[in-house]
Amino acid sequence: MVKSAADEATPELFDTIVNLCKRRGIVFPSAEIYGGFRSTYDYGPIGVLMLRNVKNEWWRTMVQRRRDVVGLDAAILSPPQVWEASGHLANFTDPLVDCKNCGSRHREDKLDDPEVCPTCGERGQFTEPRQFNLMFKTHAGPVEGSGHEVYLRPETAQGMFVNFGSVQYASRKKPPFGIAQIGKSFRNEITPGNFVFRTREFEQMEMEFFVPPAEAEEWYGYWCEQRMQWYLDLGMSPDKIRLRAHGADELSHYSSGTSDVEYLFPWGWDELEGIANRGDFDLTQHSNHSGNKLDYFDQATNERYTPHVIEPAAGATRTMMAFLMDAYDEEELNDGKDSRVVLRLHHRLAPYQVAVLPLSKKPELSGVAGEVFDLVSGAHMCDYDETQNIGKRYRRQDEIGTPFCVTVDFDTLEDRAVTVRERDSMAQERVAIDQLPGYLAERLA
Ligand code: ATP
Repeated sequence: MVKSAADEATPELFDTIVNLCKRRGIVFPSAEIYGGFRSTYDYGPIGVLMLRNVKNEWWRTMVQRRRDVVGLDAAILSPPQVWEASGHLANFTDPLVDCKNCGSRHREDKLDDPEVCPTCGERGQFTEPRQFNLMFKTHAGPVEGSGHEVYLRPETAQGMFVNFGSVQYASRKKPPFGIAQIGKSFRNEITPGNFVFRTREFEQMEMEFFVPPAEAEEWYGYWCEQRMQWYLDLGMSPDKIRLRAHGADELSHYSSGTSDVEYLFPWGWDELEGIANRGDFDLTQHSNHSGNKLDYFDQATNERYTPHVIEPAAGATRTMMAFLMDAYDEEELNDGKDSRVVLRLHHRLAPYQVAVLPLSKKPELSGVAGEVFDLVSGAHMCDYDETQNIGKRYRRQDEIGTPFCVTVDFDTLEDRAVTVRERDSMAQERVAIDQLPGYLAERLA
């Protein structure tokens, strides 16, 4: 079957990606030698590179290229007071139902039919829904008991709110300005699943943008547009991504507007990122609960106000999975006699940008190939592979999306040039070794 990125997503694609991830060391179940640990995954040698690239691209766009956003790396463990103030202790819950027939547990709001158990198929066997708090609680220090309870953060956002005063003071930024953070979050999800789409441990990329209240609506629109553009600029198919505004019944009580960036996954449209206009809820809550005023005094107007917040909150692991699915292609070659799997990833997301492939393992070729690797690997993530025939090695690189393969052959010893093969077109070009850094820099910018 031939698929292209523009086709409708299909359920088969899901298994294809899960298998590819396992086979190529992209993502695999955690603690597999002990039978795996449900809903936790490890990112292998190829996956760790791609996940890093997703996060780096977010950071580059949201922090590095902006004069009005600064970064933060806050603690994962936090005291109950933070979650009391944020409302998570009381409200960060999902409705849990048990099936009286088979004992399985489900999140009621995610059931296709609220009457039918997806595990055993029985109708009308669910218990009344109970609100289940998703936060992981643990104990700090050697004494178990009240007063030592701590929580693993279920989102990175509160780090930006509780540090608003210190960051604003230290960075001398004035609204509108943002604080951005990438890091792990933990939720005791009732029904983790769909591979890394919903896990109990995951990574988020969040930014809190603090604005004068009168400007909130305008900035909300701005960030919805900017965030959509980020996915498109990194090559996501425009027909598989959309912005969906929440209906009034979906909004939290403090939010005057929320939109989700959604991707057409094999199981249908689902959330990649939420962009919310949160008003002054968070800063006000932490001001009231901590007794430390989190506001801003504008010297130009002599006014003190609590900034409003626009929050684009994305999942790094989910986003990586969406990019993988979007890039997957099976291409027929030689009039259908042959085919290849190719990940048509944007070069900035590809695990390796370059692979150096000496045509044979002969020491004279390995020597020059080693030189080429050293020449290129300072600027680009570079694979080195000298096993199997060259055709198979090209296929292996296509399958993990490497944009350029650089082949060192016996002519290289004479002409000090290499063959550069481009992933998508498979076009090959002879390039002098000393021109190679410039050649690649131009194409991998
Ligand atoms: P959902 O409705 O899917 O449970 P949410 O709306 O509660 O998600 P947010 O609190 O808005 O999610 O979190 C922001 C982003 O963090 C989500 O868009 C998603 O990309 C990511 N995320 C949230 N929960 C998980 C999870 N359990 N596993 C992986 N990523 C997650």
